[in-house]
Amino acid sequence: MSNPSLLILPGDGIGPEVMVEVRKVINWFGAKRGLKFDVSEDLVGGAAYDAHGTPLTDETMEKAQSVDAVLLGAVGGPKYDVLDFSVKPERGLLRLRKEMDLYANLRPAQCFDALADFSSLKKDVVAGLDIMIIRELTSGIYFGEPRGIVQEGNERVGINTQRYTESEIDRVARSAFELARKRNNKVCSMEKANVMESGVLWREVVQKVHDEDYPDVELSHMYADAGAMQLCRWPKQFDVIVTDNLFGDLLSDAAAMLTGSLGMLPSASLGAPMANGRPKALYEPVHGSAPDIAGQGKANPIACILSFAMALRYSFDQGEEATRLEQAVEKVLADGLRTADLLGEEGAQPVTTAEMGDAIVAALDAGL
Ligand code: NAD
Repeated sequence: MSNPSLLILPGDGIGPEVMVEVRKVINWFGAKRGLKFDVSEDLVGGAAYDAHGTPLTDETMEKAQSVDAVLLGAVGGPKYDVLDFSVKPERGLLRLRKEMDLYANLRPAQCFDALADFSSLKKDVVAGLDIMIIRELTSGIYFGEPRGIVQEGNERVGINTQRYTESEIDRVARSAFELARKRNNKVCSMEKANVMESGVLWREVVQKVHDEDYPDVELSHMYADAGAMQLCRWPKQFDVIVTDNLFGDLLSDAAAMLTGSLGMLPSASLGAPMANGRPKALYEPVHGSAPDIAGQGKANPIACILSFAMALRYSFDQGEEATRLEQAVEKVLADGLRTADLLGEEGAQPVTTAEMGDAIVAALDAGL
């Protein structure tokens, strides 16, 4: 049988720097765990624009559609701010998400013990936190029609439309229930059914999917504004949260920051299963290309390394190996290693991007 395939798109700014460290980890799994991948690498974002005049070529798009998983670094940078909207680096990423139809965006909010002091919340509120927010990614108010700014009488009106079909809600609800079964079997669905018809339909469809196919999973519903409060008050009450595109955008950012730095946050965007049963999948750190620190060896590679751990778990069915990698990260943090973004005011000397990557590989070795 051929090895699973992985397309790496390092992108711009710190993207290529953190990806070098992910490569070390991928090589380690090949050498020490017999987990070999057919890895190919290509350009996206500003790097693709510089080489080809477009942030994503058709060839790269085709490759992304044919591999088992895509791992992306980050795109963008001030150099590209002057470009026309149609060729901006971010368009490359949006094209990938749209054409792969990645409708379920998985954003974990996990607090490593060693970083519990780093949160803006009290240590006992966040220590041991491990929740997953699933945000619907391809529909809702960011895509609904009509939209625009129109003249009405003597003033302009800004219009966006929240729109969800039953099938769009159904498929993302299934993603949430499937995931919950692999975790603590609990889903909380968030909307605003009290004031939005799309919320009423959302609640009905999620409940129906639950009752018909996932009665074993504990399901609750919460208004999204109350959910935001609960996330700050006692986030550990949640396991999987499923919500729409707009609320998910806000709630996942808020939840993620409970756990500390942007440099720690991975994500996965999943679509429908392919012929081999694996979902279409794009893994990427939440952070951007961080032009302010690019090229200085300061970037924290953990978000991208944890994104690869998500790929191991959700694309390659290697949950135990994913846990092994997460534990290696936890050990390195517990040993006190910190990139600059993880240091407080009076912090000790930071390690470089490469030193953090090497330490994680050493921790993997030590864990054998
Ligand atoms: P950013 O995430 O790049 O940076 C925000 C802040 O966090 C910066 O101070 C940066 O130094 C720090 N930071 C981010 N990642 C870090 C890491 N791994 N280690 C240490 N520190 C880290 O967001 P921004 O500054 O708003 O955007 C910069 C560029 O990235 C823009 O062109 C933006 O469009 C693009 N962007 C891309 C993505 C993506 O590729 N998915 C996401 C967000 C922003």
